[in-house]
Amino acid sequence: MNSFTHRKDTRPVKVGPITIGGNDEVIMQSMTMSKTHDVEATVAEIHRLEEAGCQIVRVTCPEMKDAEAIPEIKKQINIPLVADIHFDYKMALKAIEGGVDKIRINPGNIGRREKVEAVVNAAKEKGIPIRIGVNAGSLEKHILDKYGYPTADGMVESALHHIKILEELEFYDIIVSMKASDVHLAVEAYEKAAQAFSYPLHLGITESGTLFAGTVKSSAGLGILLNKGIGNTIRISLSADPVEEIKVAKELLKSFGLAANAATLVSCPTCGRIEIDLISIANEVEEYLQNIHAPIKVSVLGCAVNGPGEAKEADIGIAGARGEGLLFMKGETVRKVPEESMVEELKKEIDKLAAEHEEN
Ligand code: SF4
Repeated sequence: MNSFTHRKDTRPVKVGPITIGGNDEVIMQSMTMSKTHDVEATVAEIHRLEEAGCQIVRVTCPEMKDAEAIPEIKKQINIPLVADIHFDYKMALKAIEGGVDKIRINPGNIGRREKVEAVVNAAKEKGIPIRIGVNAGSLEKHILDKYGYPTADGMVESALHHIKILEELEFYDIIVSMKASDVHLAVEAYEKAAQAFSYPLHLGITESGTLFAGTVKSSAGLGILLNKGIGNTIRISLSADPVEEIKVAKELLKSFGLAANAATLVSCPTCGRIEIDLISIANEVEEYLQNIHAPIKVSVLGCAVNGPGEAKEADIGIAGARGEGLLFMKGETVRKVPEESMVEELKKEIDKLAAEHEEN
């Protein structure tokens, strides 16, 4: 299989109204931090995630009261809900009965055959997929004994072991993740998985760290995979507000042209020619663009010397020019604006362009 076409070549799997796999889209996911049984807090967190652009959200169910909260949570949210179950099949059944759109459970960890069958049959009946979550840190004993330590081959073997259990029960709505905290290991495991089976892949570098370090580490690893056409859905795992995970995922997907309807910011690296408070302006414009859902490229440049010319590809932008700003579109200066109102003027023009995109 040519790994460059892997994303499209995967089996399409429905999670609520969203299709994972079989196309070039990469779906953004995150996970809540609240106790799932605290419905109010969980729903509030999910609403913040929805607003940030999260497309699928996962909640953990360590206790039965968490799985029991699912119907109430489902009623109050607008994106598909995934229940994370470790091995307790009763919890999985409760979550499925409660209306989750996907469960994350490793069939090999459920235990006796009839328990596995009960979960698989319930998922089949409701038409929901199962995500197999292979994690380098918790590989099965027989695999660790064989390889000595977590390896990419061992991780693929673990995935195939769980896949086989589901396939034997004629269950094929499968999504697989191959997470590791080590970037090299994760990349190799995903690459090998992409060769070994055609179920869609959920990308992630687990325990990647804080907002800053985790963003760099996740982007380094997942960027390699996205560039190879691997990955159908993504979660950036950060020790930070889950909204930050979505912001990072969105930015990463934008870098590879994989985020539809997302606005991008081009800002100059700054140098001694700078004529405006570029850094704070760039941050303000970036924040504003989070809520613009149109493929617009905006440029913010520190000076007018090379400014508009350098940013010819931007749809719109501003360049500093001694106490004022030049507003330009497609590299041509449109008008001068006073420095104090420069950002407001730019925002107005961005809104106009976004509205034009919506009309078209
Ligand atoms: Fe320097 Fe102007 Fe280029 Fe920014 S746009 S890096 S301020 S020359």
